[in-house]
Amino acid sequence: MLCCCWVPSQSLLSITAASSSSSHSPLSSFPSTRKLSCMDSAGTDSDGRQYQTAGEMWSEQTGDPNKKTQWYHCGVSYWEGVNATVDGVLGGYANVNEPDISCSEDFLKILLAERFPGDVRNQPLVALDCGSGIGRVTKNLLIRYFNEVDLLEPVSHFLEAARETSAPGYSDMHKAVNFYCVPLQDFTPDTGRYDVIWVQWCIGHLTDDDFISFFNRAKVGLKPGGLFVLKENIARSGFVLDNEDRSVTRSDSYFKELFSRCGLHVYKSKDQKGFPEELFAVKIYALTTEAPKTVHRTRSKTHANRPRTIK
Ligand code: SAH
Repeated sequence: MLCCCWVPSQSLLSITAASSSSSHSPLSSFPSTRKLSCMDSAGTDSDGRQYQTAGEMWSEQTGDPNKKTQWYHCGVSYWEGVNATVDGVLGGYANVNEPDISCSEDFLKILLAERFPGDVRNQPLVALDCGSGIGRVTKNLLIRYFNEVDLLEPVSHFLEAARETSAPGYSDMHKAVNFYCVPLQDFTPDTGRYDVIWVQWCIGHLTDDDFISFFNRAKVGLKPGGLFVLKENIARSGFVLDNEDRSVTRSDSYFKELFSRCGLHVYKSKDQKGFPEELFAVKIYALTTEAPKTVHRTRSKTHANRPRTIK
């Protein structure tokens, strides 16, 4: 299950990039300055199998064009067999809908106030809901804050359900506009259309290479000052491959390395609270193409030169 997994084997996860780097003895064959990449992190799958590295897992799962086609085919087939309901897209945890939306709403309100203050905005706000499923996030959140929302979803019966519930819109000024039935790895947005590209509980279906190329292509879809919001399950370390739906849950450091490979910067992030304990941790990241402005704190002269008491 993609978004909500109980993973008893998580606690058994072996060497992570972080822990393996600290365990290098001076006799280790790696130079001590060698930077471990996310591809080096160990992981497991939903049946408890251990992988020494993510590279090993990716090459086994998607290492040639046939395997890669099969990977994406299995991912979509899994969701084609799921009911087009909130319970369906939330893996039987419909009760997390409310805390999920409320945490996302608090996060989004801050982003909108900081990045798109209403008094200087002269254009309608537009969002893209990626891997939208039945339009749960659009209907409960995005449509209330954005004037136009586009939805992208590869599973047609989900997208049809989304069209039925979202197309009427929230008001004359808040409408779902375009419904794209394509997977993320094949999608390129229109140039400069979006203030926010929202990616929730679907990026685990993409391989690392497609993750990077998706975000690189999708950058052209952002307006100046626009940003990505990524909300995802987080593995305690390394990664966890789900054999059932062909998705990968990555750790926070795995994500951060992929962001940096995409040339994206974490503008803000927040941990989801209030989910049942047996589920993965969930994090929400706001990502920008420009580096955050560094605040240079200059110490005032008076402070710097203030005499100190000698003890
Ligand atoms: N984001 C929605 C749905 C989450 S369920 C929500 O939070 O309610 C995961 C969704 O990812 C499903 O709708 C599934 O069809 C979609 N998905 C699977 N593979 C995908 C891919 N390659 N690209 C985009 N979406 C994908």
